[in-house]
Formats: sequence, structure tokens, C-alpha cells
Amino acid sequence: MSLFSKFEMLANRRKALDETGAQPFNVVVERMISATEAIVDGRQMILAGTNNYLGLTFHPECVEAARDAVKAEGTGTTGSRMANGTFASHIALERDIADFFGRRGAIVFSTGYLANLGILSALTDRDDVIVIDGDCHASIYDGCQMSGAEVIRFRHNDADDLAKRLRRLGERAANALIVTEGIYSMLGDRAPMAEIAAAKREYGGYLLVDEAHSLGVLGERGLVEVTDEHDSVDFITGTFSKSLGATGGFCVSDLPELELVRVSSRPYVFTASMCPSVIASTRVALAVLQRSPELRDQLWNNANRLYDSLSELGLSLGPEPSPVIAAMLSDVDEALALWSGLLARGVYVNLVFPPATPNGSYLLRCSVSAAHTTEQIDQIGAAFADAQKDYATSSAA
Ligand code: PMP
Repeated sequence: MSLFSKFEMLANRRKALDETGAQPFNVVVERMISATEAIVDGRQMILAGTNNYLGLTFHPECVEAARDAVKAEGTGTTGSRMANGTFASHIALERDIADFFGRRGAIVFSTGYLANLGILSALTDRDDVIVIDGDCHASIYDGCQMSGAEVIRFRHNDADDLAKRLRRLGERAANALIVTEGIYSMLGDRAPMAEIAAAKREYGGYLLVDEAHSLGVLGERGLVEVTDEHDSVDFITGTFSKSLGATGGFCVSDLPELELVRVSSRPYVFTASMCPSVIASTRVALAVLQRSPELRDQLWNNANRLYDSLSELGLSLGPEPSPVIAAMLSDVDEALALWSGLLARGVYVNLVFPPATPNGSYLLRCSVSAAHTTEQIDQIGAAFADAQKDYATSSAA
């Protein structure tokens, strides 16, 4: 056994993948053209897997704000929020986010991953219990691990299973931390928020919802807003790296203890704070999100159109239309062939392998943007149809 023995299986899988000619995990964006197009492998591609839901990465006001901030405040803070890395703009962004969600306080983290890691690991320790949806994101699982708390998983989107597990906890349920997401990142389905909130109200505990994929997508603020469950939700986490087109993460809450969580959170304390340019573009993007409901309308038109066209092809999709649209495949060769076929037709989507996927499936995961034109959405649908036909012909031969 060497230090590297554990990589043998990975090395073998990589070799097998290389032999197919597909390089799904080595995609290099050589040059961005717009929010929805780039040069990849020397060719122009429609980007259909970027989480750039509102298409704000090239918004002129966001770009200008970032450029002005670099000039005025430099390229980085070079320090932790607890030392030299808190600029006035970090505090202003925290105020913006807290006000936006109508909550008393907000903490901003350097990434969305760190927001979940930082909140879960600081809020809970080995005496606590976290009850999470089985399909939660890796950042939530890693936060649980870092906290050392007992972790209980409930069946994905099954509020009865959650209630059963809370009931079994007896008195411990009153202090349990329940964790769900708004829109789930892989299949685009939403949590049954009303039922989850009802279980929490019946058995006790605290509820944290990660709105990473629902901020700016469902209403302005996400699933908690559109289901009117503000009062049942204690913590909302999320990211600036999707609908707001930058990087960084946040947690908002009405609980005054949030300020103590901040200083107890190692992923907050022991890393450099967000760059001034990133803060500046995020603040403008948040304002654009609030004054531009037409972006959300366009996003949903695009999402419904692509969902319909992929359903018509007989692909097995998530249960409801959403800006995350994933075709689930059980066969790795088919997944690789379709992914390569899409790329050959100028369409990039995410190829996702287990264990990052539900039920061990292979996913061709699309994410739709408000910046996609109707023609681009139709080109994505047509590319899927052609790639599917090619695969059917080659596998019959
Ligand atoms: N939460 C969820 C549900 C996510 O899908 C992601 C990223 N895909 C994150 C958190 C982490 O966000 P970031 O990439 O901004 O660190």
C-alpha cells in the first residue's frame, strides 16, 4: 500500500474514459464570447451548462462596477475578514443581502461552498444532530462532516420521511438542524417546502434552506419566498456564483446568534475575504435582479421550451420544468456518446457521473439562461435530437 494506492481505481476509470476519446472533465473554455457562447476546443459553442441563470456575467453595469472597484481598491484584500480583509464594501454587501431577504443579519463568505461549510460546522458540534435531505449538495455533506454532528438523512423530498425521523429523535428534535435546498442542483426539482416547514413546526428544530439554484430564479429570493415560508425558515444560505454571475456565498438569519456563528466559523476566519471587484459586481447584480423581472420571465420561457423539447425526445428528465434540466441515463457509454455528440454539434452541457448524481444515474445536465435566445434553445434541442439519432444508429450497427 502506498500513499497513492487509493487513486488506482480513479486512474483506471480515467484511462477507460480517455480510450473513448471523450474528455468531459478536461473542458477548457479558451475564450468567452458572451454569457452564452465561448470558444472550446477551437470551436464556437453554445454554453448550456453554466448556472448563469440571469445571464449577468457580461452585464455592462456589473462589469463597470468591478472595473471601478479594482482601480479604487486593488485586486484583492489579501486577508481574512477577522484581520485586514473587512472593507466597507463587505459590510455594505452584508447589509444589502440582509435587507433583500428581510432578515436581521447576513454573513458573506468567500464562496457558496464555504458558506455551507462555515455555517454548518460552526452551528453544530458532536453533541448535535443534523437531518438532511439525501440529495443535498457536497458542501452540505462536507459541512456536516466538519461539524462532527450526528447526521441523519431523509429520503429526497420526502417530508413524511423527515417527520418520521424527527419523531424518532424525541426531545432531541427540538435542537436538530434540518437542511434542504430550494431547487436541487442536479435534477432541478424543488423541495416540498410547506410540508417540510410543517414537520419542523410539529417536531421542533431549526430549518436551513440553501437557495443556491433558486435565488433570482423562483421569485426574487427563492423557494422560501414563493412558498411564503419566511417565518418557518431560520437560515438561508446561497451563492453569488450563479444568478448573480460572480463568486462568494452568504447566510442570512433573524437570529441574533448569527454574529457569534461568524466568529466561530473556521471557513470564515481562516481564508481571505471576497475581492473588492467581486463584491462590487455582486452588489450591482443584486440591484439588476430586483429591477428586471423580465429576465426571470425570459429564463422561464427558455426553461419551459427546452424541457418540452427534451421531453418530446423521450429523454428521462427531472419531475418538473426548471432552469436546471437534466437527462438521466443509466448507461455510461450512451451518456458519453450523447455528450460528445452534443459537443460536436456546438453545444456544451455538463456530464455528471455518480456519486454526484441521484440514483447512480449519468446526467447530461443543462442549465438555461435568460441570455439564451429562442434560436439557441432550439439549437440545443436539435443537437440533442441529432446526437440521439446518431447514437441509435451506431449502437444498432
Ligand atoms: N450549494 C449548492 C446547492 C450548489 O449547487 C453549489 C454549487 N454548485 C454550492 C452550494 C456551492 O456554491 P459555489 O460554487 O458558489 O461555491
